[in-house]
Amino acid sequence: MKIIDGKELSEIIKTEIKAEVDGIRARKENIPHLAAVLIGDNPASRSYVRSKVRSCEFVGFESTLIQKDSSISEAELLDIIRELNENEDIDGFIVQLPLPKHIDETKVILAIDPAKDVDGFHPINFGKMAQGLDAYLPATPFGILQMLERYHIETSGKHCVVVGRSNIVGTPMSILLSRKANPGNCTVTLTHSRTKDLGAEILRADIIIAAIGIPNFITGDMVKKGAVVIDVGINRIDDASRKSGYRLVGDVDFDSAAEKASFITPVPGGVGPMTVTSLLLNTLKASKLKV
Ligand code: NAD
Repeated sequence: MKIIDGKELSEIIKTEIKAEVDGIRARKENIPHLAAVLIGDNPASRSYVRSKVRSCEFVGFESTLIQKDSSISEAELLDIIRELNENEDIDGFIVQLPLPKHIDETKVILAIDPAKDVDGFHPINFGKMAQGLDAYLPATPFGILQMLERYHIETSGKHCVVVGRSNIVGTPMSILLSRKANPGNCTVTLTHSRTKDLGAEILRADIIIAAIGIPNFITGDMVKKGAVVIDVGINRIDDASRKSGYRLVGDVDFDSAAEKASFITPVPGGVGPMTVTSLLLNTLKASKLKV
């Protein structure tokens, strides 16, 4: 069994991006600039945004953080998005989800200029991705593709079972892995909360992508010997032994699944850091397209 070390891989890719940015700076060209909009004080969202800003600093990008109270109105947020769309200094931006209940997330995503949508959530980017056209790929699935590629994991002809059908992970992942591409060319089964006998479906998988949001949901008895296990889940569970009072676990019961898997991602230190790296790659792409 081999651990897919997302933390290490993301450091390698960030170092490659940094070298590219050093070149851009030396040539006095446009330095990539990412903006992040953070609404409210959700601790997980704050921590994701912090890590995105830190990563920008590491690779030498410009970054702008816009923080607003959760009482912000939908109209005010849409105004901020309009300003970011129009601001020529900003190459790409993200609005950290989830948003407060009184704000319509779909409306917000639709308001983002697809050319600056480095999270790859806008339907224009989603549609282009689905048709195999050049697009900003959604950050988490893009990060998983890079893991598969850099660990030389064969995907062609494999049976991949994706668990969870969200617009940001499960559904785009199922499309990307079924495309005629490398990584890709999988036969994909997209499963969800209404799937009958989910355990039997997962047991048939050569590649399992778990994106459900339920701690330790997939156990070793659901994993075929030699399967590749990618755990997207990030769940906080109580842990009195930690100073924070919690620890992070995935959707996969790591210990029992690791006994069966050929490759497995840990939580933390797996898919999470790769999501941030993908965002940087998309921002770099946005800044190059602008030139
Ligand atoms: P979501 O929370 O929007 O939806 C959950 C999905 O799981 C739904 O499609 C639902 O059908 C499915 N589901 C729920 N219960 C199920 C069950 N009992 N059996 C089968 N399927 C079931 O999904 P999301 O936004 O993709 O998030 C999933 C998890 O991934 C969360 O833990 C989230 O924090 C994490 N996440 C991690 C990253 C990362 O960068 N590592 C990025 C995004 C999301």
